[in-house]
Amino acid sequence: MKGLADLTFDNSFAQLPAGFHSRVGPTPLAGAHVVSVSPGAAALLDLAPDSLRGPTAARMLGGRTPLPGGDPVAMCYAGHQFGQFVPQLGDGRAIILGEVLSGQGARWELQLKGAGLTPYSRDGDGRAVLRSTIREYLCSEAMHALGIPTTRALCMLGSAEEVYRERIEPGALLLRMAPSHVRFGSFEGFFYRQQYPQLRRLADYVIDHDYPVLRDQADPYAALLVEVVQRTARLIAHWQLVGFAHGVMNTDNMSILGLTLDYGPFGFMESYDPGYVCNHSDHRGRYAFDRQPSIGLWNLTCLAQAMLPLLHPEGGDAAAECARELLAGYEPELRRTFERGMRAKLGLREAHRGDPALAGRLLELMEGGAVDYTNLFRDLAWFRPADPTSFVPLRDRFTDRAGFDAWAADYRDRLRLERSGDAARGEAMRAVNPRYVLRNYLAQRAIEDAERGDYSELERLLALLSRPFDEQPAMAAYAEEPPAWG
Ligand code: AMP
Ligand code: MG
Repeated sequence: MKGLADLTFDNSFAQLPAGFHSRVGPTPLAGAHVVSVSPGAAALLDLAPDSLRGPTAARMLGGRTPLPGGDPVAMCYAGHQFGQFVPQLGDGRAIILGEVLSGQGARWELQLKGAGLTPYSRDGDGRAVLRSTIREYLCSEAMHALGIPTTRALCMLGSAEEVYRERIEPGALLLRMAPSHVRFGSFEGFFYRQQYPQLRRLADYVIDHDYPVLRDQADPYAALLVEVVQRTARLIAHWQLVGFAHGVMNTDNMSILGLTLDYGPFGFMESYDPGYVCNHSDHRGRYAFDRQPSIGLWNLTCLAQAMLPLLHPEGGDAAAECARELLAGYEPELRRTFERGMRAKLGLREAHRGDPALAGRLLELMEGGAVDYTNLFRDLAWFRPADPTSFVPLRDRFTDRAGFDAWAADYRDRLRLERSGDAARGEAMRAVNPRYVLRNYLAQRAIEDAERGDYSELERLLALLSRPFDEQPAMAAYAEEPPAWG
């Protein structure tokens, strides 16, 4: 186990030419102190969690003293925000401290969010508040435990500084990590400025750094786009399966690695509602839950357009035709992943033709009756085809009970077709349907305690959500649906 001073750095992104980033170090935040460390993320760097807790670590993590071997930069990128192209975005409050080579041949970019002003801060103050930092910290680690690709969160720091938002809030810092933080918008920036050599350099960087096997393909750039299309399709299918709404799917928040990136006003659906909009400023519902799959394609289309100069030597129509073909892989991959995942949620091992319709009918029944999405799937594992009393606690959650009875009869017949044992099926279902997700009210409670200086609820949630599929009976209250205030 190492400490922060023992890390080995490569800083490959910082070595790219100007135009990809700006060299800028963090502006220290008064009284920055580490309030929580994720043991799982620390293990990825072979760091002892305790080595991140002392005052020396806080000075390095909080940006007061440099990380030995780091080379801090802020990334430059563009992006489509709510459908509008913004040519100049970039990390306005996040600074890559350095890129760590870990023992297993992996690379982890360490990025400090809330690190102060950068050349890309525009009107912002470069800071992050405790509230949003806690939400990103908990949700990154919770998503990972759910098996969904995401940036990770190594630790978070509280501070003595006040940050002005709608109210005065405590400032905080998040140290997050990913093999790369390159976004779709990174490509769009160079495309818009017609900087095609830089565009190619970026694609080469991403291929060599993150997709080295693609180097041997006949057309590595087309292969890169195919891979991003596939990963994005699978990512969004997983969001839909777990009921996660990202909230701000702008192209600058779309990871070239297919990771969940930039947690803002995200939410896990509680009462099933396909039109769920978690972002209060998204008045038109552009990023509503059920629009995420089509927005994923819209965003990939922006990426493909930015990659056109790389896709075909003749450019023009030939490149556009090539892009169209590659994008056509999105929908089938998303549907395949979603349908496979939905079958697993229902405890079905075989694929039958009527399965998507069976799942769709259950969702429709849930929609009409404000049924808690997470708990309904979790508790469906109680269902015993031979025991009608096992349906009762489930049917009581629906307003359309007759509808549920009809569905349950079909589900029972479907289960009998594959003769799965109740115990084995129940166990398999509990391995894919979480008992615990980061419900808004749970995060809110941890935030309110933390704002009073008590981080124990935050730690409890971090530990709970690192094992979302385990029953953890002492924590059963954390699976409850929100109280009236939540
Ligand atoms: P987001 O939608 O949070 O991903 O942010 C969009 C853009 O605004 C990015 O370029 C961010 O770096 C920038 N940004 C967001 N909040 C701040 C802030 N408080 N200070 C400076 N820049 C910010
Ligand atoms: Mg962002």
